[in-house]
Amino acid sequence: MIKIRLNVMKIIEEELSNRSCEFAMLGVAEKKDKYFLITKVVSCERETANSFTASVPKELQIKILKYCRMNEFIPVVIHSHVHYNYLKFSPIDTEFEQSMVRASVRIGGKSELISILFGNEEFTARRWKNGKELKMFLIL
Ligand SMILES: [Zn+2]
Repeated sequence: MIKIRLNVMKIIEEELSNRSCEFAMLGVAEKKDKYFLITKVVSCERETANSFTASVPKELQIKILKYCRMNEFIPVVIHSHVHYNYLKFSPIDTEFEQSMVRASVRIGGKSELISILFGNEEFTARRWKNGKELKMFLIL
């Protein structure tokens, strides 16, 4: 289960209120007893097209991954698909998330990542752990 801290949810809601363009964020989650708590997010560039990977600077990825490694946090990717009629992670999303996991392992971090996708009315979440994709429930 994934929970999002209130002030972080506010930032996400602000991004979501601008429905005309997609957003991407990176963040960190703390592992609690029975859930993961997302405690921090940083917004990446908004975009005009759907080239999601282009909107997350490599330096920011590495910064977040190092921060997670140091603090035993789990990196989080949050983005939107408001231009689509159905909510589904795309092959580009999967590719991007796996490249981030590989980068994490490369710098000595864990093979783990949480990803959250927001659509117009709904949301979905998943977690990568040691190469496996796990479905996650998200509590707003
Ligand atoms: Zn996407």
